[in-house]
Amino acid sequence: MKVTDHFESNQGKTLVSFEVLPPLKGGSIDSIFNCLDPLMEFKPPFIDVTYHREEFVYNKRPSGYYEKTAIRKRPGTVGICASIMHRYGVDAIPHLICGGFSIEETENALIDLKFLGIDNVLALRGDARHFEDKFVPEENGHKYAVDLVKQIENMNKGFYLDESIENGSKSDFCIGVAGYPEKHFESPNLDLDLLYTKKKVEAGAEYIVTQMFFDNKKYFDFVEACRNAGITVPIVPGLKPLTRKYQLNSIPRRFFIDMPDALASEVFKAKSKEEVIDIGVEWCIAQSKELKKAGVPCLHYYTMGDVDTTKRIVSAL
Ligand code: FAD
Repeated sequence: MKVTDHFESNQGKTLVSFEVLPPLKGGSIDSIFNCLDPLMEFKPPFIDVTYHREEFVYNKRPSGYYEKTAIRKRPGTVGICASIMHRYGVDAIPHLICGGFSIEETENALIDLKFLGIDNVLALRGDARHFEDKFVPEENGHKYAVDLVKQIENMNKGFYLDESIENGSKSDFCIGVAGYPEKHFESPNLDLDLLYTKKKVEAGAEYIVTQMFFDNKKYFDFVEACRNAGITVPIVPGLKPLTRKYQLNSIPRRFFIDMPDALASEVFKAKSKEEVIDIGVEWCIAQSKELKKAGVPCLHYYTMGDVDTTKRIVSAL
């Protein structure tokens, strides 16, 4: 079922959904099930599975030289989606990125998803690889998420890259895209970022999932700015609790978002790991309750494999 149909059929009630990461290569899919089994009592209508592009690593050789190798640390997105649908009977949403894919590879990936009965795709650009200072698209790959959205929309209309295909079977993907309440870090300002977000919607995206934020005002302001810019699709808030003291620095550095002063000073004063978790969980519960009261379509939790805190938060709603 499409994400947008889930929103419609729930008649304004706030849903809860989760996002999981594929295990590190060599790991077992049991880590996904161990994370999701305890969360299924909350009846998530859909579960997102992230996609991880290959990265470069430098391995030291006996000669002392370093050898550059490309590895994919977390493969398995599509297989995990199929397993989730099979085990729980809920929709699984694969994240599909531009990075590392030529347009032909993207088309073949979409065909796999269509044959698996996957109805939704979150279309993203992806980040620059480590040791690259900017995002570099694959040769004959997409540069921006909007181009990926256009390709998916083309397949939804039955158009394939091979123009000799006539009456191509149409896919019917519901396309989601990313949105950034505190703007995407490469964008010079929020207005320009919104302009490009609007282009993704005009190209066919039917809903937006936001980057995590710790200050609800950023989300509410973002939604208002989107509406003023003519973006009318549902905007799903993405949430993650802070659970470690070092995240006061690592989250802003990695995700280019602000940490509210009140949260930062409380966590800073905490005397134990447990106290940090309690503060982070309570903060996320307060955020979730306020968002729910405001009538958001869905609360989307970035679990990052942390089932205990996710469960504590959702249980409190
Ligand atoms: P785009 O929408 O393409 O935007 C990228 C930048 O380019 C922005 O600054 C935008 O303003 C600008 N821009 C867009 N179009 C144009 C244009 N035509 N001309 C000039 N500038 C333009 N990454 C992963 O690798 N795997 C995942 O599974 C994953 N999941 C995510 C889920 C969510 C909910 C979010 C918010 C992010 C996720 N990411 C993931 C991270 C994402 O790939 C990065 O944030 C990436 O840097 C941008 O992706 P995007 O789809 O927003 O890109």
